Amino acid sequence: MHSKVVIIGSGPAGHTAALYLSRATLKPVMFEGFLANGFAAGGQLTTTTEVENYPGFPEGIMGSVMMDKFREQSIKFGTIVYTETISKIDISTRPFKLWRENKEDQEPDTADALIIATGAAAKRLNLPGEDKYWQKGISACAVCDGAVPIFRNKPLAVIGGGDSAAEESLFLTKYASHVYVLVRRDKLRASKVMANRLLTNPKVTVLWNTEAIECKGNGELLNSLVIKNNQTKEIKELSVNGLFYAIGHTPATNLVKGKLDLDEDGYILTKPDSTCTDIEGVFAAGDVKDKKYRQAITSAGSGCMAALECERWLSEHFDE
Ligand code: FAD
Ligand code: NAP
Repeated sequence: MHSKVVIIGSGPAGHTAALYLSRATLKPVMFEGFLANGFAAGGQLTTTTEVENYPGFPEGIMGSVMMDKFREQSIKFGTIVYTETISKIDISTRPFKLWRENKEDQEPDTADALIIATGAAAKRLNLPGEDKYWQKGISACAVCDGAVPIFRNKPLAVIGGGDSAAEESLFLTKYASHVYVLVRRDKLRASKVMANRLLTNPKVTVLWNTEAIECKGNGELLNSLVIKNNQTKEIKELSVNGLFYAIGHTPATNLVKGKLDLDEDGYILTKPDSTCTDIEGVFAAGDVKDKKYRQAITSAGSGCMAALECERWLSEHFDE
């Protein structure tokens, strides 16, 4: 099958690109993935409950319901969606070639242009009790979940010592009674300015050389962490009603490793204020190219940019 444009990935970035491209009558094909990168089609938001910060939904909306609506809208305007994962691509020559998972021995699909919107996944520690209380007190996104009632005026914990941990801890001080930051070393990785803000905030206590070893709760919600000082080996229980991981994200870039320019953390590099990659005709949108904002709205925004840039590029190179 040959298409003008193929979108790989089905989160807010992929679907926004699909919406714009299909409205531009380019008949985009989307590979939404079959449990690609550990997520159901629809992406990271299918793993959360209420999304309260996406404009247009004043009452909030369940993440999976929102992604169903994105999909419906993409299809309504003519996007063709395949519930398959792309396992291999060749972007060294045009048309670009794509192979579907478990069909690698078959002829590849081809496309004149490609939008990579494969997303990212927050790193987790897989502690005992973590699965039981995931999204019941445990989250990997303070900006997304920090304002929900279960965290209000409660002691909370953040794990990590980088800029994300500092930023998310400071954000949580607006809601929490206190924020404990568990740092595995005796220093922060965060930039000086962020570290300083964190260390001088009266609502924050940094627990140095400290690791979490278990998540505990009342069966319904998290209410404490078992923590260990890795220097003194002392183990104790810390009463907290929330745990936020801020130990980094892993962008879903295995597919393009060695084929597109990536930064040192594996995110796709795009030209400034653009979604253009170093290969002409290949665009990247969403969390796969964004380690700073990582929000549904920013992903959707870059999906829109990718579609507009792709449309312009196609019209310049493939006059009908
Ligand atoms: P993703 O949502 O990561 O989607 C990428 C999709 O591409 C996935 O479905 C994946 O399976 C698919 N894919 C990957 N590789 C392939 C492949 N090779 N072939 C085919 N398909 C592939 N943001 C907010 O703004 N508000 C919130 O309230 C909020 N809550 C969150 C709660 C949680 C628990 C999490 C984890 C994140 C939350 N976020 C929230 C962040 C938000 O989900 C992300 O910023 C956003 O989903 C990123 O969108 P994306 O389109 O870049 O990719
Ligand atoms: P990061 O810089 O990689 O920091 C990750 C932190 O998590 C480090 O402190 C690390 O500890 C810790 N960590 C990693 N694995 C762990 C584990 N298994 N157990 C306990 N702790 C663990 O990631 P980030 O903070 O998400 O930042 C990513 C990038 O985005 C950085 O370039 C950052 O500067 C940037 N960013 C910038 C801003 C801003 O400027 N406002 C905000 C957010 C992010 P060690 O230090 O011991 O390795």
